[in-house]
Amino acid sequence: MKTVIDVRDLHKDYVMGDTIVHALDGVTTEIYEGDFVAIMGPSGSGKSTFMNAVGCLDRPSSGDYFLNGEEVSAMGDVELAQIRNKYIGFVFQTFNLLPRTSALKNVELPLMYAGTKGRSERAKGAIELVGLTDRMHHKPNELSGGQQQRVAIARAIVNDPVLILADEPTGNLDTRTSHEIMALFQELNDQGKTIIIVTHEAEIAQHCRRVIRFRDGRIEKDEVVDDQVNAIDALAALGPAPR
Ligand code: ADP
Repeated sequence: MKTVIDVRDLHKDYVMGDTIVHALDGVTTEIYEGDFVAIMGPSGSGKSTFMNAVGCLDRPSSGDYFLNGEEVSAMGDVELAQIRNKYIGFVFQTFNLLPRTSALKNVELPLMYAGTKGRSERAKGAIELVGLTDRMHHKPNELSGGQQQRVAIARAIVNDPVLILADEPTGNLDTRTSHEIMALFQELNDQGKTIIIVTHEAEIAQHCRRVIRFRDGRIEKDEVVDDQVNAIDALAALGPAPR
C-alpha cells in the first residue's frame, strides 16, 4: 500500500506568556492511499493543529512529515504553497466559496493558480461529478448549503489531488444533506481518493474506515471501523428527497 502521509514524532508548541502549550506532543502515524479517516477528539486536543500541519498550512515545531514521499517538514512558504495546490484538496465547514463568482469559476480557481490548460473543461467535469451541471452558472447565494458544499468538493478534486482534507464538512448541514455529502465522499473514496475528515459526530465517523482519536496533543486511539456504515447505502435507505 502506498503511503500518502507519514508523520514522525510531530510536535507543535505554542508559547503563551511563560507557559508552553504542547498542541501536538509527539504524533506518529501513517495514512495510506485509499484510506477514509475520521479525526475525532475533544476540543483543544490538537485536531486542527494536526490538520494544519498535514495540510501544509503550518509548520510543526519539530518532527518529520512526508507527503506522497516528499519531505515537506523543511520546506519554505513558496514550496509549501505549491505542494498544497498540487497534492491537497480542502473542504471547510463554511464552504469558503467566492461569493460573487459562479460555481464554475469557483471550481476553476485552483487550476488558475496551477496554470493548468483546458480549465473550463476540467472544471465542468468536476461539477458534473458532484451532480451540479444544471447549477454551474449560479453564484453561491443562489445555491443551498448542500449545493455549495458540492461546489467546494468539486473545487477540492479538480486538481486531482492525492489527498482530500475536510474540516467538519457537514457541520452546517441538516441530516439529509449531511448524508448526501458523506455519500459523495464515499463515492470519491470508492474511486481511490484518500480522505481525512475532522468530525465530532459519531454518525459521520461511522461512514469512515478508520478513526484516529486525539487527546492532549497525542493520538489516544487509532482504530479500524469494523461496523462501517456505507454512506451511499445509508442515503438510499432514507428514500427519495422530499419535494
Ligand atoms: P482542536 O482542534 O482539537 O480543538 P487545537 O489543535 O485547535 O485543538 O488546539 C490544541 C491546543 O493548542 C489547545 O490547547 C489550543 O488552545 C492550543 N492552540 C492552538 N492554536 C494556538 C495558537 N495559535 N496559539 C496558542 N495556542 C494555540
